[in-house]
Amino acid sequence: MNNVTGFQCLECNQTFGVNEIQYVCPDCGGNLDVRYDYERINQHFSKASLAADCNLTIWRYRPLLPMEDTSPVPPLSVGWTPLYDALRLADEFGVRQVLVKDDGRNPTASFKDRPSALAVVKAQEAGATVATTASSGNAGAALAGMCASVGMKSVIFVPATTPAAKVAQLQIYGATVVLVEGSYEQACELCLAASERFGWYQRTTGYNPYTVEGKKTAALEIAEQLQWQVPDRVLVGVGDGNIIGGLWKGFCDLQQLGWIERLPKLTGVQAAGAAPLVAAVNGDGVIRPVIGQTIADGINVGDPRDATRAMRAMRETGGGAVAVSDEEIIAAIPHLAQTTGVFAEPGAAAALAGFIKLREQGVIQSEERVVLISTGSGLKDINTARRSVGEPLRVQPDVAELNKLKV
Ligand SMILES: *Cc1c(COP(=O)(O)O)cnc(C)c1O
Ligand SMILES: [Zn+2]
Repeated sequence: MNNVTGFQCLECNQTFGVNEIQYVCPDCGGNLDVRYDYERINQHFSKASLAADCNLTIWRYRPLLPMEDTSPVPPLSVGWTPLYDALRLADEFGVRQVLVKDDGRNPTASFKDRPSALAVVKAQEAGATVATTASSGNAGAALAGMCASVGMKSVIFVPATTPAAKVAQLQIYGATVVLVEGSYEQACELCLAASERFGWYQRTTGYNPYTVEGKKTAALEIAEQLQWQVPDRVLVGVGDGNIIGGLWKGFCDLQQLGWIERLPKLTGVQAAGAAPLVAAVNGDGVIRPVIGQTIADGINVGDPRDATRAMRAMRETGGGAVAVSDEEIIAAIPHLAQTTGVFAEPGAAAALAGFIKLREQGVIQSEERVVLISTGSGLKDINTARRSVGEPLRVQPDVAELNKLKV
């Protein structure tokens, strides 16, 4: 961890050595930010060294990650997901460029492979044999998959309402699964109590300080994939706010290194039924927790666990936040799929729904280059996806019946 200088608490600003604490601020309980020595990083890491690096995973950014130089990493190929030029979306909405980053292409089919891969590295550094997390599904599947790839045990706490495909993933990867009869927030509290009691390595978002560092790799990739010409805006579905906080960290790292000149606007998209961050960002900055109510389980968070970081990301970059209805999210799933070929789960398609809303409101300007992050594969939640399309035509195997076809 030669490039890491320590932790700083996001709430009380105190600094700590990395070996002093494992998770949150011991004084105020605030979330921590990992601090780096950028001058030192620039001595042996450059745009040119990256261009010559044929490792096309998140580990190409190792000098910017909080881990020992010698730490082994899980063998699954995480990150370096495609950034597609969505020409038809740009055309349809009259903006300069729309790009779609397909993070459903990760090993367990969501963005959460980025933080979970790093969490497993940290768990192994800590000598843990069991890792645990609370999750709305994807973080758990990602941790379970990463653990399986290195032979570590995992215990995953998810709300009992989690979509079947995500629960199946957990079981198939061999995780010990705890279906909690309650909300995601209640699953978090139970998981935190369990790791305290049993000594498991704790990955839960908004508690483990390293998830945001894993998540920032998406920002590093976007910048590098665009030849260091940062886009004007990045939109992403927001639940706990840890992804958007991670994107902010990644772009700030690059600015600190002097590799990019400005930050993109980071725009958070929440489901209207679980939008405390939108209310806070557009209002007085105070989080008023709600009981989350949305079909987009990945962003169904009523009391975001990384609110301070997320709010700063949205406010300081000028990206702001927008709420979209479940109907708009459901409609965005086939819209994205049919214009780009990318099949997104509801929490991922929310980025397109938010883009459409802000474009129609004139907030997004015609000269903007916009990135939409598709945070998870549509195959994660088939039941919701099917609500957006009708029943397919059913025929007898007789060519005459094909006269009914509408192509
Ligand atoms: C976790 C998740 C998000 C939101 O990430 P947060 O860090 O909770 O804001 C968005 N989309 C999907 C599919 C997710 O799984
Ligand atoms: Zn503190």
